[in-house]
Amino acid sequence: MRDYYEILNVDKNASEQELKKAYRKIAMKNHPDRNPGDKNAESIFKEAAEAYSVLSDSQKRQQYDTFGHSGLNQAGQSGGFGGFNVEDIFNSVFGGGGGSGFGGFEDLFGSSRSRTKKTAGDLKLKLKLSLDEIYNGVTKKVRVKRKVRNGKESIKCSKCQGSGELRIVQRSMLGQIVNVQPCNNCSGIGYIGGTELSSSTIEINVPSGVSSGNYMTMKGKGNEGVDESLDGNLIIYFEEIEHEFFTRNDNDIYLESEIEYHQAILGDSIEVPTLSGNVSLKIPKSVKNQQILRLRGKGMKKINGNSCGDQYIRVTINIPKTISRKSHDLLIELSKEMGSRVSFKKINE
Ligand SMILES: [Zn+2]
Repeated sequence: MRDYYEILNVDKNASEQELKKAYRKIAMKNHPDRNPGDKNAESIFKEAAEAYSVLSDSQKRQQYDTFGHSGLNQAGQSGGFGGFNVEDIFNSVFGGGGGSGFGGFEDLFGSSRSRTKKTAGDLKLKLKLSLDEIYNGVTKKVRVKRKVRNGKESIKCSKCQGSGELRIVQRSMLGQIVNVQPCNNCSGIGYIGGTELSSSTIEINVPSGVSSGNYMTMKGKGNEGVDESLDGNLIIYFEEIEHEFFTRNDNDIYLESEIEYHQAILGDSIEVPTLSGNVSLKIPKSVKNQQILRLRGKGMKKINGNSCGDQYIRVTINIPKTISRKSHDLLIELSKEMGSRVSFKKINE
């Protein structure tokens, strides 16, 4: 008989958690259902359960630590190392047990027991929108190729009797394992016939303020099943079309505006395009190159509300490459008036 600590590959003062972890690892790897017909795996699996059953019980562990295997025998264990049940131990660690046998184990391997019936299928489409459409909200008509009910008879799938799922029951040494899979005869729908592929026009009401990455689900507008309860959904992913000069950041809009240097010095009132039409913007006197001005509330509409983001205008000052003779003469005169001045300062990044 091997040493229990050796079987679980832990040291003598392993904590309860460490024991559990070690057992879990061995049990997972050597479970008979994963190793059908492998006698060696089965014996490792049983051995680990035995070792864990003793070491996880503080009283038994103490006896074992003091007297070894014989200590447990003397303590009146019936049938040598009996007194434990492999399945109980396994379930106590993996959280299974109960009615249909082997819940914990089944869940561990990802075959959910509560599967909802498959629908006829969701459809996905990408919808490109301009910033103006997003700002105002828009109704779009799109052609979608999808399954629709055709009024013809549908036949209940003979393989799954219309349930859409197949239950495969396996016997194992630890009880029954029920595997539920979508029926391969009817693709999990339960019926055959009754629908056909067809092109339909669907109206999509796009709310204001959506952005790339947002999506909308239209219930029942995917593939139709033989009855409404099986209709799939249509999922619409929005995609923003790049605007000619607006840049969107969340609900704010950014725009660059180039002005002449006399406007920068004297100040001005200019017309600025926004998503809600042209508005007038006051350029303050002595505006700096690259200065950012704000039009409050002139950005994108917020998706859940009536308010809007802001629009920001970065002012740049145009230094012309060529000017008219008259401008030239006026600037010469201006230079005499203003005088020429040069100063230096440290560059501060
Ligand atoms: Zn079927």
